[in-house]
Amino acid sequence: MEEKIGLLLNSSLSDFHKQELLFVLCGKKLVCRQGKYVDELPLFLRVISSLGLFAVVSSFKVVPFREGYSEGGLRVRLDDVRIGMQFVYIAKDEQSVYLACYYDLMLDNENLGIILGYPPCCIEYFLLHFSEAKVDLSRESYLPPLNISLRAEGLSLISHFPCSYDCHGSLIIALDALVILEKYWSVRANILKEKLHLS
Ligand SMILES: [Zn+2]
Repeated sequence: MEEKIGLLLNSSLSDFHKQELLFVLCGKKLVCRQGKYVDELPLFLRVISSLGLFAVVSSFKVVPFREGYSEGGLRVRLDDVRIGMQFVYIAKDEQSVYLACYYDLMLDNENLGIILGYPPCCIEYFLLHFSEAKVDLSRESYLPPLNISLRAEGLSLISHFPCSYDCHGSLIIALDALVILEKYWSVRANILKEKLHLS
């Protein structure tokens, strides 16, 4: 375990990807889902495999609605000429990655949210409010651990939209995430504490 974490933290993945994979390795996340462009996939999949984790890549890609960081996108076939990201589902067990991939393909956001570990209240909030016309469900402000205003830079403790300013289920996830980062990756924990204004 320690050896795998060392391997992960020394890899060339982005800090946010490392953070998400660390949560999977520590058993804090059953499955994580990451978007990757086709030229980034080989290296990403190699790192995942070296960590002893399973990965499945989506059979569709998502063309971002706008350049740079984009909350949503248009799902198209892989042979579409437009440039898009494929999703990679990562877990410690093979069944979970295939299930997550299947739920996503079937647009079953409820079960996808469950397998990605989001709180039920936030899944419900997402199902009620998310649409193509409204892809950004973030609120003006949150309690600091739930701050997702810097998510485009990969600076957040959670990877979903909290349903409220102080969603209890989201707070538990965020504070658990911080505990893991403090234990295994204190540099990252300190960066997040500073950027998210956590004392
Ligand atoms: Zn919630």
